[in-house]
Amino acid sequence: MTQLPDLSDRYALVTGASRGIGFQIALQMAQAGAHVIAVARTVGGLEDLDDKVRASGGEATLVPLDLKDYDGIDRLGAALNERFGRLDILVLNAGILGTITPIHQEKPKTFEDVMAVNVTANWRIMRSFDPLLRASDAGRVIGISSSVAHKVKPFWGPYSASKAAFESLMRMWAAETAKTAMRVNSVNPGPTRTHMRAQAMPGEDPASISTAADVAAKIVPMASKNLEETGAIF
Ligand code: NAP
Repeated sequence: MTQLPDLSDRYALVTGASRGIGFQIALQMAQAGAHVIAVARTVGGLEDLDDKVRASGGEATLVPLDLKDYDGIDRLGAALNERFGRLDILVLNAGILGTITPIHQEKPKTFEDVMAVNVTANWRIMRSFDPLLRASDAGRVIGISSSVAHKVKPFWGPYSASKAAFESLMRMWAAETAKTAMRVNSVNPGPTRTHMRAQAMPGEDPASISTAADVAAKIVPMASKNLEETGAIF
């Protein structure tokens, strides 16, 4: 397993922290010393995370929020500014799959939801949190993308289009902040044993793919202040 970086005194916000990959990234960041701000809708999942964070001596702030509540994102940005004055690590992890179906048969509501969570919410977070990340001495943004941002996987239409749009936004943000202390990266976690993967591939043996904990252990070093010391993981 990859060694966790020292994230002492770093403020790290993780979206989709109630289960799956986001839960494990949040937990491991807290174990590495970060104060984690955990965002998701499911309060029970956030509380499970909080229990595990506390049991390992860490600290978390729980933020139950539907990311389709764009004004709520702005309010969260304002609250973070008031309380912490900066954000050191932002993990844009929350995502939804929609349904696996021919693209012309996708329900309009599902298409709109996938775009709202996977694209628009992330842009609203960028818009609201950019000043907080610039206020850090080494702001780190990690966007959780997917292989289908680049390759055509029939029947995965809206999800695939949303991840392509997400990566485009991330590349734009990376280019626009290249001369600052911020670093913006996207990562494809690969097949991971989560709720979303089971929804996408119901016939797959979960034991044949990586656990969320193992995947998180490869992603968390991307939050390090000293990126060159961690080496590229993926
Ligand atoms: P997951 O287990 O389904 O978890 C998704 C997370 O997103 C949950 O914490 C969920 O929390 C949150 N979320 C969804 N809609 C939300 C909303 N409207 N507001 C706030 N939070 C919301 O999925 P996962 O597999 O861990 O996926 C995490 C990321 O990895 C996603 O971006 C996914 O596209 C990407 N990915 C996964 C795989 C894989 O094999 N698993 C492969 C490639 C990429 P609530 O439901 O509590 O709100």
